[in-house]
Amino acid sequence: MFRCYKSTQTSSGKPVMVTVSTQTVDENLPSCAAEASESELISDGDSECDILDDDPEDLDYVMSDDSDQSMDEAASATATDNPQMDQDRRIYFIFWPCLVQLLVSWCSCPSCGSRRVAWTRQELGTMLKLSLRCVDCGHCNPWNSQPYFGRVAAGNILLSAGILFAGATPTKVLRVLMHMGTAVFSLRTFFRHQQKVLHGAVMQLWRERQMWMLSALQTEDHEIVCGGDGRADSPGHCAKYGTYTMMELRKKAVIDIQTVQSNEVGGSYHMEGEGLARSLQRIKNFVAVDTLITDRHVSIKKYLREKHPDIEHLFDIWHVAKGLKKKLQAAAQLKGCNALKGWVASIVNHLYWSVVSSPPHDRELVLDKFQSVVYHIQNQHQGFPGRFTRCLHGPLQGQELQKAWLQPCTKAAMEMERIVCNPRLLKDICQLSSSYQTSTIEAFHSLLNHFAPKMISFSFNGMECR
Ligand SMILES: [Zn+2]
Ligand SMILES: [Zn+2]
Repeated sequence: MFRCYKSTQTSSGKPVMVTVSTQTVDENLPSCAAEASESELISDGDSECDILDDDPEDLDYVMSDDSDQSMDEAASATATDNPQMDQDRRIYFIFWPCLVQLLVSWCSCPSCGSRRVAWTRQELGTMLKLSLRCVDCGHCNPWNSQPYFGRVAAGNILLSAGILFAGATPTKVLRVLMHMGTAVFSLRTFFRHQQKVLHGAVMQLWRERQMWMLSALQTEDHEIVCGGDGRADSPGHCAKYGTYTMMELRKKAVIDIQTVQSNEVGGSYHMEGEGLARSLQRIKNFVAVDTLITDRHVSIKKYLREKHPDIEHLFDIWHVAKGLKKKLQAAAQLKGCNALKGWVASIVNHLYWSVVSSPPHDRELVLDKFQSVVYHIQNQHQGFPGRFTRCLHGPLQGQELQKAWLQPCTKAAMEMERIVCNPRLLKDICQLSSSYQTSTIEAFHSLLNHFAPKMISFSFNGMECR
């Protein structure tokens, strides 16, 4: 019996002996013939090397039947007492000298029991293939350091999958391993894995999950509130791909992602609109979207008004607040408007408060509340026109009275009023969403930045998967 023993630790810390016989391994692996026909996926000549070692040490030690028996018992006892499936799937870095030590000290010929075993080794990516031969009787036996998934060595495809799923870049990971002196496959092999296996797997899983989510939404009788936002693959306006993400905001679930190539829609400017259109088209097959929250992109406004009048289109506060903040900051730079600088943050916060503190659809109240800031900043706290007639804060005391109020009729006050009461801004504020925001999509996009950094360009499939 050709048999290797290795000592492992259980979670209880008690060392146990585990049997790793060639027979057990053979049961899980394809036959030697299948191994001989090397996987198509990893056949780089440069990753293979043959090293002949025909001077194995001949040890005198012979294992007694008794110890063999007791070790088997210990192993099966642990297997039943402590079934740790995950432990069995661990992957280890094994240094070659340590493996040689194991071979020479614990291996003997399964046919004649001789301890004079010669071996040749071969590397296939990260896999080590040993061909063991008994010097005395000529019995041969192959051994692989990894099982196979189909026709691919498990460790190789797992490394490629690990690189892709961790959002890492293959060049760097493979270089790290190479610098360590680890046997790895080439970059070309990674791309072959990606193209033939991984991209397909990712897409299949995503499609299944999407189908499941949309079907789940179909069965619910809540209204469907979606948020949509686009993301370009590179900074600036020269993007090659745009990703449009549609999220169900009540469940915070990404229900659709569209990758749009700028050259198919005539420029990166149109990618966002096109992504939204495709996304709505797909979702419409399952559920009707009741409310859609997006940024203030002009083409999107127009598209939704014309093509989907049934969808209530709302804006995300953050996008509108960002625009307002920019305008106020620019105005504060003007000559004589320095006093405005200290009020920018307050005005933007007031916008959030005005929207969030009002009941949904009560646009009039939102506008009245928001515009009251004009009076407050000029140290007037009551007697406003409309339904919001006075500030909600109590009488001002001490320090509060010393605030840098804007003097009425100064340039700063007039600039402020011009920006706050801008009809276009007020029109957009009427369309702000009070209950749901697209910040979860922003968060999702920053996660995407990790998987598909804007500095690196990807293929269409690569982009879609990442
Ligand atoms: Zn032999
Ligand atoms: Zn006030």
